[in-house]
Amino acid sequence: MHEFSIAMSIIEIAEAEARKADASVINELVLDVGTLSGIEFYALDTALEMAVKNTLLENARIMINKIRARAHCTDCGEEYDIEHVFDACPKCGGLYHELLCGKELQIKSLVVDVP
Ligand SMILES: [Zn+2]
Repeated sequence: MHEFSIAMSIIEIAEAEARKADASVINELVLDVGTLSGIEFYALDTALEMAVKNTLLENARIMINKIRARAHCTDCGEEYDIEHVFDACPKCGGLYHELLCGKELQIKSLVVDVP
């Protein structure tokens, strides 16, 4: 499962950060995940639940912020919510756009216990 290996690398990064701060426990982890990141939110949630066993994150509260993708039309300048990469501009029908957000997959914050 794609999401499982993503969950593993998120945990690895989080644990590395926590160790840098000499923390022994991670209490909270917040992730930003864009709707166009290719991640299944439900699958990621489930994968994280399984993957945290025996890690510093075992009892952490994990929150996933869903970042709705936004695009900027390069023809008319309209900004709009986009669900699929090939969606046309709702104002002028143009197919060319820049993504403003929606592809992110990152750790937004981490709350740890420092002894
Ligand atoms: Zn447009």
